[in-house]
Amino acid sequence: MSIAVSVLDAVRAESVLHGGARVTRAGLRIGELSGVAVESLRFCLEVLVAGTDLAPLAFEFEFAPWTRRCRACLTVFPVLDARPECTACGSADTEAAGGDQMELSFLELEEP
Ligand SMILES: [Zn+2]
Repeated sequence: MSIAVSVLDAVRAESVLHGGARVTRAGLRIGELSGVAVESLRFCLEVLVAGTDLAPLAFEFEFAPWTRRCRACLTVFPVLDARPECTACGSADTEAAGGDQMELSFLELEEP
């Protein structure tokens, strides 16, 4: 529930930044490693938005796969079977590149 509250705080903050424009659609990017359960987050958001000044507000969820970046060849690759080696050159010198995020990917605003 607290994740849903912070999502709506971010939506409200964006609305204020845009002169109080109504937000009609919000996209959320959920990382494979974030531990966020999309269906329960969607449910919490719908409950929190219903009957408030934010309604109607539609949400779209986008899945972000677990990825790593190779320090040797700079390829960003999806991690399969939790193997950290670069899929392009085979180097084991790789760093986290994504998959643990939970962020707004886009907002659609209506002119005030
Ligand atoms: Zn590589």
